Amino acid sequence: MTGGAGFIGSHIVEALVRERHPVVILDNFSTGRRENLEALLRSRPQDGPEPEVIEGDIRDAGTAREAVRGADWVFHQAALPSVPRSIEDPLLSHEVNANGTLALLIAARDAGVARFVYASSSSVYGDTPSLPKVESMPTQPLSPYAVSKLAGEHYCLVFRALYGLETVALRYFNIFGPRQDPRSQYAAVVPNFVTAALSGASPRIFGDGLQSRDFTYVENAVQANLSACRAPSGATGMAYNVGCGSKATLLDMITMLERITHKPIKPIHDAPRPGDVRHSFADIGRARQGLGYAPAVGFEEGLRRTVAWFGA
Ligand code: NAD
Repeated sequence: MTGGAGFIGSHIVEALVRERHPVVILDNFSTGRRENLEALLRSRPQDGPEPEVIEGDIRDAGTAREAVRGADWVFHQAALPSVPRSIEDPLLSHEVNANGTLALLIAARDAGVARFVYASSSSVYGDTPSLPKVESMPTQPLSPYAVSKLAGEHYCLVFRALYGLETVALRYFNIFGPRQDPRSQYAAVVPNFVTAALSGASPRIFGDGLQSRDFTYVENAVQANLSACRAPSGATGMAYNVGCGSKATLLDMITMLERITHKPIKPIHDAPRPGDVRHSFADIGRARQGLGYAPAVGFEEGLRRTVAWFGA
């Protein structure tokens, strides 16, 4: 498990620990936090194995080898997950997201790992007008981040074809939920808006707020990861959309947050950001069919749970 101290990774760790699987976490704590692990370790079943934490970098071949030794499944979540950050420093984004993925794939191949699940991104589709996004569409990355995630995805699929390593790439669509970091300057929109709404501050919208996304509660992404490990071999060597198959605008989200928090929210509008796509939502037919994926938590319910967590 790489990136297990991060937002999505810590939720996957939590699910694995709940099922009493032995887990090894590799994380360099660059964007991940120890509190994420401490919280879930406190609530873990006492009759299951305690997860092992390796503090290190996925780009280091020796560290990658140590982390995957003896593993049946690898969940590769570690990355620098930000479009603006990749625009500021494209080389670092590439090194972590593309080179790091390659280093880990080599380690997983050599260790005889049974299944390698890769966290890809809906950003690989770019801003093409066709909606919903279907996996068979041509990709058109608009940022160094999206290029680097797509490179990792291609490496995964090539490793299936060349070396028989069973890989699955999951194209996440705007995953949100508890433990997502609202404090970083690269924070994602949901934790940003939720914490602003709770504190009575004005959330900042880049553009008119009519841009839309397929906001996907993190529990659905966890389910997709576990399903990707358990799906038949024939389902591997492919990319799958992980979303809810629905869309909401940022202004819709503000309205839902007003409903949930019972407080009026006055957003501030800024200039649109370069590299951002206008509309995005997933066709999840392939994931339903190939992986048995069925998102269980819709956007508003996920938002409600997220507000409850941040407000606690
Ligand atoms: P996150 O920043 O919370 O988690 C990333 C984790 O990777 C952190 O714990 C970080 O410390 C670790 N990490 C970064 N570089 C590392 C390195 N060189 N070596 C070891 N560990 C390293 O982000 P997240 O939102 O949980 O994203 C997880 C994955 O999902 C990423 O691969 C991201 O690209 C992908 N993704 C996320 C979303 C989303 O909506 N959150 C959407 C699309 C794709």
